[in-house]
Amino acid sequence: MTRSDTGAAAGARAERPRILTGDTPTGRLHLGHWVGSVKRRVELQSTHECYFILANYHAFTTRVDQSAEIRADTIEIVRDYLAMGIDPEKATIFLQSEIPAIHELCFLFAMLLPFNRVMRNPTLKDEIKVKGLGDNYSFGFPLYAVGQTSDILTFRPVGVPVGEDQVPHLELTREVARRFNQVFCGVPTDIEDDDHVKHGGVFPIPRADVGKVGRLVGTDGVNKMSKSLGNAVFISDTTKEVEKKIMKIFTGRQSPTEPGDVNNALFQWVDAFFPDAARVAELKDRYARGDNIGDGHVKKELAEQVNALLEPMRKRRAELEGSDDLVLEVLKKGCARANETAERTLEMARKAAGLHFFPRRLSY
Ligand code: ATP
Ligand code: MG
Repeated sequence: MTRSDTGAAAGARAERPRILTGDTPTGRLHLGHWVGSVKRRVELQSTHECYFILANYHAFTTRVDQSAEIRADTIEIVRDYLAMGIDPEKATIFLQSEIPAIHELCFLFAMLLPFNRVMRNPTLKDEIKVKGLGDNYSFGFPLYAVGQTSDILTFRPVGVPVGEDQVPHLELTREVARRFNQVFCGVPTDIEDDDHVKHGGVFPIPRADVGKVGRLVGTDGVNKMSKSLGNAVFISDTTKEVEKKIMKIFTGRQSPTEPGDVNNALFQWVDAFFPDAARVAELKDRYARGDNIGDGHVKKELAEQVNALLEPMRKRRAELEGSDDLVLEVLKKGCARANETAERTLEMARKAAGLHFFPRRLSY
């Protein structure tokens, strides 16, 4: 394999604690991604060795007939990343479909998880319900939960910055890592999670790192903001679109003089997007007392705050429109770097599982 980069940047990255996280190309990124995960990623890219995966195979679980859209969304999400401040010189952005080690390890990990354990995963159950999949989902749908353990463990990270809904998936990942280390590396069952590698385990047991807002509610005021539920404010939305969507946030409150519940959806947004804590306290006090402050007033101020956050992102994004070349270059470099790490893990795992018959090299 050709080396993707050399020298100081690569050296600095490699000495840092490693994290992995990412997104499925089922649409563009939204404010939930920003508060739940991406803001944290931007902070961590200067102190950690960062891998950000575009889980494009997983998008097929619900969009098998939309391969062109999956491809287009993959490109758009990279634009969103760059617009939000992820720096491809610091962080490795890559495609799940270009990393063969992930898929090989997935097969092995599937043997370590009882079938019923996968199906009991509350995030899967929730997705089946919310996305209206009934009992018509493909075999690949629950398989994606196993695949996600592999997306993560292939990079042997210590931390995974995610939203709250991903915590059950991460628990599954932690179980797979423990089980692999116990079954194939002889790590005793009473060893603390943090000591697995010290005792010969291939995989560190990664921790979830949930952002400031673990579950931003959507404009419907009920469900998690989601790319696929029509309740999202996208990073790429125009000023007007943002205003229109925020005006629709549902609270059920009738009048400006009715004492309001500051634990409602609207104030979750206020908490997430107002930089000034004193202003938040003042608004909450008046709203709770019904001191002549309507939802419309709060929403107007909220839209201003959200637009102030998005404006520099829109500017950066506008510079990336028009051609896919830059995005493809970022992905190509990222995939080369990611494969170096992934192949090293695969080799370790194959050795541990007695699957190393002779050396094998990926070449580009
Ligand atoms: P889909 O509807 O296809 O599941 P999604 O909007 O849920 O899409 P994902 O790609 O599943 O987005 O999630 C990517 C990351 O963003 C995960 O870490 C997830 O926890 C986080 N995330 C997504 N939505 C929110 C949200 N509303 N609040 C906080 N974090 C979120
Ligand atoms: Mg999701």
